[in-house]
Amino acid sequence: MALTLFSLLLISCGERKREVVEQPSAKLKALIIDGQNNHYIWPKTSMMMKDYLEQTDLFTVDVERMDSVWLGIKYNQTRPEAYKMFIEKYPLKDKEYKISDSPIKTSDFSFDFTKYDVIISNLGAESPLWPEKTREAFENYMNNGGGFVVIHAANNAWGEWDEFNKMIGLGAWGGRDEKTGPYVYYNDAGELVKDASEGACGSHGPEYQFQLTTRAPEHPIMKGLPQKWLHTQDELYERMRGPFENVTILATAFADVEKNAPPWDSSVKGLGQNVAQLMAINYGKGRVFHSTLGHFDYSMECIGFITTLQRGAEWAATGSVTQEIPADFPTENATKSKSWNNLLNSIRSAY
Ligand code: ZN
Repeated sequence: MALTLFSLLLISCGERKREVVEQPSAKLKALIIDGQNNHYIWPKTSMMMKDYLEQTDLFTVDVERMDSVWLGIKYNQTRPEAYKMFIEKYPLKDKEYKISDSPIKTSDFSFDFTKYDVIISNLGAESPLWPEKTREAFENYMNNGGGFVVIHAANNAWGEWDEFNKMIGLGAWGGRDEKTGPYVYYNDAGELVKDASEGACGSHGPEYQFQLTTRAPEHPIMKGLPQKWLHTQDELYERMRGPFENVTILATAFADVEKNAPPWDSSVKGLGQNVAQLMAINYGKGRVFHSTLGHFDYSMECIGFITTLQRGAEWAATGSVTQEIPADFPTENATKSKSWNNLLNSIRSAY
């Protein structure tokens, strides 16, 4: 357990006396891994998630950038920021890294995961597969009781890594197909269906606001959340496939046949079923919280995203959740967001 120094102010006999006391830190140690993501906003979303976790007062959060850094794709060319703005505005201090504007196919990434209570992946599509030793180290970390949080495009990575597919339950794209596992959804009768039919893995329509439906109200991550809540503009991931072992679907969204059809591919429609958006997975002695939400910064400003990230990370680290549900949580018909201000973040961490 890490040790921290803190000052204890004692007042005795009217005299102020400062003593330094050493005691174990009560905080959980979290690590965000980034560096390769098809969403070019990732340097900012890593800092947003770091801040959201630190706001709970439960975590200290480090960020580790992979050895090869790809900025990703600027899908929406009308966004005002220059392509390199996010990597320049949200650098990692004391870390040198080469930046590429095209995916890098190889990685020598290695890391001692065991120092952390929970690892958060902010990686994305086309992240290079970790070397075998690193994959084994991560599998051992999870089998021995590690915590893992998978956000949005992090579930696109590594379709060829079987143990990773087990950890995340269901994944999208990344070379996955019917051999990876079935589609999984709740039908209109509320029955859980595992559909082994052939077809693409991973799809979404244009971004919009959509409603989340709680499916596991007694799970520690979900306890006290509304049965339905409206999420801020985001991509609604569907047609995910995977081994789906030891998975609890925490919340679903309805993938409408027309509304969630990708306008760029007329051969694909929305699935017309209630598909998983939040999941909890047991892997060995480890725990995984998987959120498909979080396409862009505004998606992560949703109080529903923030709250489930904070609660999911605590559950992945400890197996329980101690946090209150915020009073301004979204409702069935109203989204609730708060803008993330990096200036406030800097002030907070300075004091
Ligand atoms: Zn996305």
